[in-house]
Amino acid sequence: MLIVMQSHASEAQVRAVCQRIESLGLKAHAIPGSGRTAIGITGNSGAVDLGVLESMAGVIECIPVTKPYKLVSRDVKEEDSVIKIPTPSGDVLVGGTHIAMVAGPCAVETEEQCLTVAQRLKSTGVRLFRGGAYKPRTSPYSFQGLGLEGLKILSHVRKQFGFGIVTEAIDNESLDLVEQYADVIQIGARNMQNFSLLKRAGRAKIPVLLKRGMSATLDEFLMAAEYILSEGNYNVMLCERGVRTFSDFSRNTLDLAVVPAVKKRSHLPILVDPSHGTGKRHKVLPLSRAAVAVGADGLLVEVHHSPETALSDGIQSILPDEFASLVGEVQQIAAVLHRTIN
Ligand code: PEP
Ligand code: MN
Repeated sequence: MLIVMQSHASEAQVRAVCQRIESLGLKAHAIPGSGRTAIGITGNSGAVDLGVLESMAGVIECIPVTKPYKLVSRDVKEEDSVIKIPTPSGDVLVGGTHIAMVAGPCAVETEEQCLTVAQRLKSTGVRLFRGGAYKPRTSPYSFQGLGLEGLKILSHVRKQFGFGIVTEAIDNESLDLVEQYADVIQIGARNMQNFSLLKRAGRAKIPVLLKRGMSATLDEFLMAAEYILSEGNYNVMLCERGVRTFSDFSRNTLDLAVVPAVKKRSHLPILVDPSHGTGKRHKVLPLSRAAVAVGADGLLVEVHHSPETALSDGIQSILPDEFASLVGEVQQIAAVLHRTIN
């Protein structure tokens, strides 16, 4: 159910409607838009009795939402959400006219490795640094990440270079720590339907980057995001990272058509990860160009100064210099679309 408030409704009127909703044992989510505020109602298993709400001051109408997702839907918020990521060097904006770049190694391996990559990335203008301290690996015998020690290394990168840190949480325990050390919590493809983790991310105070599961439909992807918003964290960015198909020439099939499909249904920004999406270094640049051309709100790219010795995903990691030319190219494509990279 969605309550649409009048454009001139006061904050007190919005608050009163929210309180009435809560008094019915339901949860109210006031989502301000540029023209008006909409209030999403969750927690109702059946139809809510609208009578009481429709007659309240400041309310225009009550609309039943038939789609399974509500808060992520454009019905609740017509315009694009712009997510603000506070970093030591100022806010990074994602969505609307703003395209964000995230770059760094697949995994945090050593302090020296991260500082070297970070140093080389600094001059490219990228402001968000990625690197996994917790690695969800297919084999239990593969490098699992440095855990807390990795988070501490990332916080040195943050302090020394001013990057915002994007890093993955694989369970509720690691999420507690990621929330303390990082600026964005990444939920990986393998955890897209880990509902307890999604709910915990929904209670976090920092933005979340939610990757699409490798066999997730669009509805499943949006419903996973809905879990996070329904707990009160509206700062969610989606990320397409390739899905499993019969195509056998790349690690995954990067589903770029999902970008306009998401934009049609949801106000949330969507980034594209051409590294996991292809699994091959030579495909990262062309697919990055295509992603920005198709309307992606950002790119997540694996970059390593020595890919041949990387502990994970070396074959899809590009060099810092290659990333610098990638940024130059996608900047030109973004300009055609009247968008800027920050
Ligand atoms: C990653 O970005 O480090 C990662 C593990 O990606 P995904 O969850 O998309 O496989
Ligand atoms: Mn990786």
